[in-house]
Amino acid sequence: MPGSELFGAEERKEIEDVLGTGILFRYNHEGQRNNIWKARDFEAEVKKLTGARYAHAVSSGSTAVSAALAAAGVGAGDEVIVPPFTFIASVEAVLFSGGIPVFAEIDETLCLSAEGIEKAITPRTKAVLLVHMCGQMANMDEIIPVIRKHNLTLVEDAGQAFGSSYKGTSVGLFGKTGCYSFDFFKIATAGEGGVFVTNDESCYKLADTYSDHGHNHVGNVRGMEQHPVLGFNFRIGELHAGIGAAQTRKVPHIREVNRKYKQLLMKQLSGLPGVTFTSIPDPAGDSATFLNILLPDTATAKQTVENFNKTGVGGFNYWFTNMYHFINQWEHLKDLKAAAPLAIHLLGKPQDYNNLNLPKSQDVVGRLISFGIRCTWKESEVVELAGKIKNAIEQALSVKAYA
Ligand SMILES: *Cc1c(COP(=O)(O)O)cnc(C)c1O
Repeated sequence: MPGSELFGAEERKEIEDVLGTGILFRYNHEGQRNNIWKARDFEAEVKKLTGARYAHAVSSGSTAVSAALAAAGVGAGDEVIVPPFTFIASVEAVLFSGGIPVFAEIDETLCLSAEGIEKAITPRTKAVLLVHMCGQMANMDEIIPVIRKHNLTLVEDAGQAFGSSYKGTSVGLFGKTGCYSFDFFKIATAGEGGVFVTNDESCYKLADTYSDHGHNHVGNVRGMEQHPVLGFNFRIGELHAGIGAAQTRKVPHIREVNRKYKQLLMKQLSGLPGVTFTSIPDPAGDSATFLNILLPDTATAKQTVENFNKTGVGGFNYWFTNMYHFINQWEHLKDLKAAAPLAIHLLGKPQDYNNLNLPKSQDVVGRLISFGIRCTWKESEVVELAGKIKNAIEQALSVKAYA
């Protein structure tokens, strides 16, 4: 999965370019920077890979979600439909924008379902924050008609789906705005970084301005630039941006290897009684960062995880008990424990967060085990891993049969 496996001469060259001029800042300093513009290069690479008309690099995937919400006009008091299975940054971004998260059901795509979205709509719903999980993609042919029918704003958090597409369009480009994360664990990393994307020029200008204290980036005297709106500092530095550019160039290779090993693992595990895989709406567009296995029920998944731990099998995620990816462990959110009051404290919870009724999401995430695909594996290691996975699952199923 992670691009961090492939650090090499390319990333080192980017760093040396930047240190050669000492201009770590992405704007201005034309006289000293020797025409080195790494944030612009990073944005150009992301546009090339995704086909986005506009891209703006920022400090993290989290700030990219915030910029995406702001640039789409989502803010104070707006209800935003979110999934209960996501990296918590998505929900935090809604809360810190002044928005009100409304949780809806996911399905076996691991993403919000059209049905889940439709059931969560109220007269106050402004937007849907669609999160493309585990390197896969949501079912856009089903979701888009619901968005249109109810006149909602679609914002996409493709934090962990950079390099994924649905029927030829990159995820992140179906909505008004979208974003990717380049943190240390993603398919391409900048160390820390994120990229906002859109095909809408006015959204791009807003994101660009919002992410830098309102600067409109016209002219070359920074202190004299116009500030059409208030903003904040979500800027990326040139060192991180250079790494992000080098890593983005490696994504086609990483994705190809990921797909090969994911296929191999699926082939080795297919036919195993009780084992299925998540639903991938467009298998040809899968970035294949994870092999996502579904067991028959939560008890079998938990027993399988126990067997993995006993036999020293690593490299997997059991999201159901993960503190940051699933709502069951988000007591701080359910009780609205914040450093200081947020809009939701004034406006109230739209749902009883402590008694949400999301049986489908509980079922799917309870049964899910995800293995991170490594692009530096050897084929023999993949076959060996498949054997170990098989043993652990077979044992879990037999424990269940005799219980
Ligand atoms: C990683 C991730 C983020 C946040 O990205 P950071 O770069 O770690 O801030 C947001 N949303 C999703 C779905 C993610 O996986």
